[in-house]
Amino acid sequence: MSRRTLPLEGQSAETIEREILHRKQKDIDALGSRVWSLVYYHSPELHELVQRVYGLYIAENALNPMAFPSLRQMEREVVEIVGSLVHLPAEGGGVMTSGGTESLFLAMKAARDYALRQRPYLSQLEVVAPISVHPAIDKAAHYLGLKVIHTPTDADGAANVTAIEAAISERTVLLVASAPSYPHGVMDPIEQVAEIARRHNLWLHVDACIGGMVWPFLEKLGHSVPPWDFRVEGITSLSVDLHKYGYAPKGASVLLYRHKSLRRYQFFVYAGWPGGIYPSATFLGTRSGGAIAAAWAVLHYLGEAGYLEATRLAYETTQRLKEAIGRLPELYIVGKPLMTILAVGAREPYNIYRVGDYLSERGWFLDRQQHPPSLHLTVSRGHARVVEEFISDLEAAVEKVRLRRRSSFTQRVGRGLVRTGLRLLPERWVRAMARWVSRTAQTSEPPRRTAAMYGMMGSLPSQGQIETLALDFLDQALGG
Ligand SMILES: *Cc1c(COP(=O)(O)O)cnc(C)c1O
Repeated sequence: MSRRTLPLEGQSAETIEREILHRKQKDIDALGSRVWSLVYYHSPELHELVQRVYGLYIAENALNPMAFPSLRQMEREVVEIVGSLVHLPAEGGGVMTSGGTESLFLAMKAARDYALRQRPYLSQLEVVAPISVHPAIDKAAHYLGLKVIHTPTDADGAANVTAIEAAISERTVLLVASAPSYPHGVMDPIEQVAEIARRHNLWLHVDACIGGMVWPFLEKLGHSVPPWDFRVEGITSLSVDLHKYGYAPKGASVLLYRHKSLRRYQFFVYAGWPGGIYPSATFLGTRSGGAIAAAWAVLHYLGEAGYLEATRLAYETTQRLKEAIGRLPELYIVGKPLMTILAVGAREPYNIYRVGDYLSERGWFLDRQQHPPSLHLTVSRGHARVVEEFISDLEAAVEKVRLRRRSSFTQRVGRGLVRTGLRLLPERWVRAMARWVSRTAQTSEPPRRTAAMYGMMGSLPSQGQIETLALDFLDQALGG
């Protein structure tokens, strides 16, 4: 395949836009609410405001907080606003980051360096986190030289507190809990984990990346929300993504510390550079001003009333889904989700991936999960207008699967997945990977249906092999 080179002459703006729009046709429609992950859509009005505000800060760079005081002010106010929503004490502080991954990375770096300040003799530092935490924890641990000790969850999907306490050793520097976990939308018992953290004098990070902009409004709407924010003594740091239920564009998260003094442990400075003294508060160097300004704009555009309305709609839509799923005996909801995220599994002998296949054919986009096999639904405000159509497609999908349940292949797929522990991979990945595997291995045509593709991938013998395959695939997808 020939590689593209820089065009000798520049192309016209129209040509470029036409080409991009043409390519974009193959993408899932981010604004159409048929996607149940990746996208948090609010409304056309908000979308337009974000475009305009982002556009005002395309050239600015938030790397140097002194150069663009307007950005510095907006960042500070965004942190203050989110801090007030989660009851950050007056002596607390925080930063804006590019997303949940960066927030978690920085919290873990701060916890690590804080522990090393107290106990410099430590080596092989450990983090204790339930198996349901976001893999960004494992990723950051990988970068930071930390070891994650994963603890089990209970039948309701929440972290098992006894296991957390049992996993603590003299090398432990950090406990992590989720409010809620991404896969099943289940809240960990934050109060009990905080109690353990206090007793062992350990740093506790609460990952509220996905829930942090939902719980405060659910509480204000009168729902009972288990304690999860800084009102719980023992929480050291907490992360809230604005580019999820904050409805801000991608690249906006907030990381908060109970004491501002702890924030310093995430900073980096190098004074020996010929280019001058290089202080950096976060992980990134150059930082988008647009993401900061747009997040600020969204918070002010929606206000408390706007978030209450968005939360109410998403919550009612979730209740509607729960009720519809409850009427289908073949399906069940994994754990006890209290918020607006659900995982849906199928009872034996039915195969939930087949349900997913049918929904894909109907133009819905859902992530497949494992342990147990399930489909993931992140419900946001925009889904209110499509929920009835989705439910009727879901009912039709279950009807189809009911008729085909005797397929032994289906069961093999299920068993293969359970056996090998196929990692959470979005459907498009699996589709592309299956194509790639069959091409590489020069076997027959890849299976057309996703359930079968998962089966094909699931027949690989080990998790290690799947991980290698996923790395090869990443390489291949990036080209070059
Ligand atoms: C999304 C998410 C993350 C990671 O955030 P990114 O913005 O994707 O980097 C971490 N934790 C939870 C609970 C999340 O939902």
